[in-house]
Amino acid sequence: MTLVVVGASLAGLRAVESARRTGYRGRIVLVGAEEHLPYDRPPLSKAFLDAGGPDHVRPFHPETVLRDELGVELMLGTPAESLDTDACEVMVAGAAVGYDALVIATGATARRLPGARTLRTAEDAVAVRAALDDGARTVVVGAGFIGSEVASAARKRGLPVTIVEASAVPLARAVGEVAGAELAGLHHAAGTDLRLATEVTAVDGGGVRLSTGEVLPADLVVAGIGAAPATGWLEDSGLTLHERDRGVVCDATLSAGVPGVYAAGDVAHVANPLFDGEPMRLEHWTNAAEQGAAAARHALDPAAARALAAVPYFWSDWYGHRIQFVGTPRADEVVSAGGVTLYRRGDRIAGALTVDRPREIMKYRRRIAGRAAWAEALAFAGAA
Ligand SMILES: Cc1cc2nc3c(=O)[nH]c(=O)nc-3n(C[C@H](O)[C@H](O)[C@H](O)COP(=O)(O)OP(=O)(O)OC[C@H]3O[C@@H](n4cnc5c(N)ncnc54)[C@H](O)[C@@H]3O)c2cc1C
Repeated sequence: MTLVVVGASLAGLRAVESARRTGYRGRIVLVGAEEHLPYDRPPLSKAFLDAGGPDHVRPFHPETVLRDELGVELMLGTPAESLDTDACEVMVAGAAVGYDALVIATGATARRLPGARTLRTAEDAVAVRAALDDGARTVVVGAGFIGSEVASAARKRGLPVTIVEASAVPLARAVGEVAGAELAGLHHAAGTDLRLATEVTAVDGGGVRLSTGEVLPADLVVAGIGAAPATGWLEDSGLTLHERDRGVVCDATLSAGVPGVYAAGDVAHVANPLFDGEPMRLEHWTNAAEQGAAAARHALDPAAARALAAVPYFWSDWYGHRIQFVGTPRADEVVSAGGVTLYRRGDRIAGALTVDRPREIMKYRRRIAGRAAWAEALAFAGAA
């Protein structure tokens, strides 16, 4: 029996770990495009960017733990090239790697803007930090979470930073307009110049050219304009890829629709029974960790595969504040109450956002998981 895991980051690592935890003793092959052992991405836009922060990106585990304790065959620096689901083979570096069970965990790749850097990999983070160390005048394109964390890192060093955002409200898609407008206040309070409803037309030697005609001088330009599922290698596989972004379409058990093939993490669109079976592709740490672990269990024992009904959760750190979100922002009504933003769908609570209330957020997560009534959640927020 061979379990092949493609993608050597968080979801892939959790897949390997959970396979061993369930008692699986067979062969495991972990295929990764990056040269690195699996490492954690959230610190790349946080502590790693601090002046005097850690000088290199540390892996989750040393190589000996992966090879000797977890018994993993590592194929790093070798992207999977294609998948043949009839032959049950993944092509890697020109050779076929056969599998009985396959976990697809190839995540997402940062969308690029010519002339700008991105922040997704260890190499990206080293380059961004070097520019900050040099005192860069920084322009961030896109007021999403990663862009906002880069701005935060620049302000922490006292450097001038501008964020250029095409929408009228930052984060409208991620947290809705009400919370997005409130979070914009954190940028203003920290002295970040936030330009809304403004587009970047070009980035060149002169700086960042805006739709208003203005040119912002910049030494460092970081594009935080989203990420696309890394599924180029699956185009001829026959798997169903999402029509909009080409992510892997899965059912609620993470099955990609072909026996033995499961997907997890940023790459996967997964039907979520908690939200009327709505397919969700999340770019959240906890989601990748939970799905990675479940995908391996299900791939190794499909008869035991169960629908996942997890409440999405993410956090982000801006200017010393912790933002936390649970659930979905796709709601019928959004209300700010007692220091929390609540999202209603039908007569249930569907989402919650807090700033600097780490103990409260998990109480809302439990309510959403338990399909708690909106009225009860509102009353709780009033009392909290
Ligand atoms: C800078 C940054 C900060 C973040 N901060 C937060 C945060 O504060 N809170 C939060 O909830 N989430 C955060 N996230 C999101 C979180 O890190 C991701 O959701 C998580 O890394 C997803 O894990 P993954 O394993 O699904 O995909 P990825 O981490 O994208 O890993 C996929 C891996 O697969 C590899 N790969 C791609 N194609 C192939 C191929 N053909 N063959 C082999 N390997 C391949 C890639 O090189 C990569 O190593 C952050 C992400 C970034 C980039």
